[in-house]
Amino acid sequence: MERKRILITGAAGFLGSHLCDRFIKEDFHVIAMDNLITGDLQNIEHLFKLENFEFYHHDVSKFVYVPGNLDYILHFASPASPIDYLKIPIQTLKVGSLGIHNLLGLARSKNARLLIASTSEVYGDPTVNPQPEEYWGNVNPVGPRGVYDEAKRFQEAMTMAYHTFHGLETRIVRIFNTYGPRMRLNDGRVLPAFIGQALRGEDLTVFGDGSQTRSFCYVDDLIEGIYRLLFSDYAQPVNIGNPDEITMLDFAEEIIKLTGTTQKIICKELPTDDPKQRRPDITKARELLNWQPKVDRAEGLKITYDYFKSLPKEALVNKEH
Ligand code: NAD
Ligand code: UDP
Repeated sequence: MERKRILITGAAGFLGSHLCDRFIKEDFHVIAMDNLITGDLQNIEHLFKLENFEFYHHDVSKFVYVPGNLDYILHFASPASPIDYLKIPIQTLKVGSLGIHNLLGLARSKNARLLIASTSEVYGDPTVNPQPEEYWGNVNPVGPRGVYDEAKRFQEAMTMAYHTFHGLETRIVRIFNTYGPRMRLNDGRVLPAFIGQALRGEDLTVFGDGSQTRSFCYVDDLIEGIYRLLFSDYAQPVNIGNPDEITMLDFAEEIIKLTGTTQKIICKELPTDDPKQRRPDITKARELLNWQPKVDRAEGLKITYDYFKSLPKEALVNKEH
């Protein structure tokens, strides 16, 4: 039987590379696309030798062409960490608007099902906790995070419009903070930031008073949720994340224990519009996809810490701060 063909954008990034691995494992033909603006080819270089894997170095905000037929498209291309999207705000807005328009057009022409990576950031600084999919959010469009949040909100609206008006098969996953191997140590997100600091013998920087919360999902759990959503028949947004909520101060303490560092916690200024609380309501994922996270934080953090420890010493140099 012919292999199903799937296009994965953002394939050289953290989540994209894990998706490539998963669909290769499921015996798909994987067409990976990335412009490497925040990704790294090392994340997928182990796949280059396979006959059912190909890579296109391309910016999806420009016209996207893929020869042959396509069954599925996963749109994961986008800067994702606050320091990335603050550094490249226009590209972030473009990939969430021009990029999705190109991919929706491609999906239509190939009659492919398209799944987009949305985010808990569509809820902004939420006034309800946990956040169900029905919550419309509390986003500042002109604040520094607006470039990401509004791009993702537009991306959802555009995807839903193609679904409604063109009958295109679409899926929307709202991803909550996810972590695991292949995150960049210097991408500024809290987990690599703390582990990097511990490994370099620096103090851990908690922003604000550290009372803000996040809920961290291990990458394998997220990938399983996305896999199930893609093959479900549900076109409305679905939250995928781990509801185990923790304050950033407690999280820093956990990393100190995990790494055995003797460094202390220091407080730094809280970034503008930093959400105060975030926790997914995963009722829909449980009911529709029979999905729930399996890896608890202690186990996931240990795997991730071992990964960071195994990196060559040069990877520890903090180039971005
Ligand atoms: P990442 O930065 O590791 O990966 C993003 C990839 O997209 C990179 O390889 C980058 O080079 C590529 N890219 C960016 N702009 C592009 C463009 N115009 N054309 C082609 N490639 C482009 O980030 P990630 O954590 O893997 O995030 C992947 C997706 O998941 C993003 O869409 C992000 O918004 C979403 N997401 C991630 C999380 C998380 O916790 N990791 C949470 C919510 C949503
Ligand atoms: N944060 C922190 N110290 C750091 C980096 C981040 O205290 O060195 C905080 C940040 O202010 C936020 C939380 O950790 O409240 C999660 O930040 P991250 O950038 O990982 O993701 P997001 O804010 O997008 O959820």
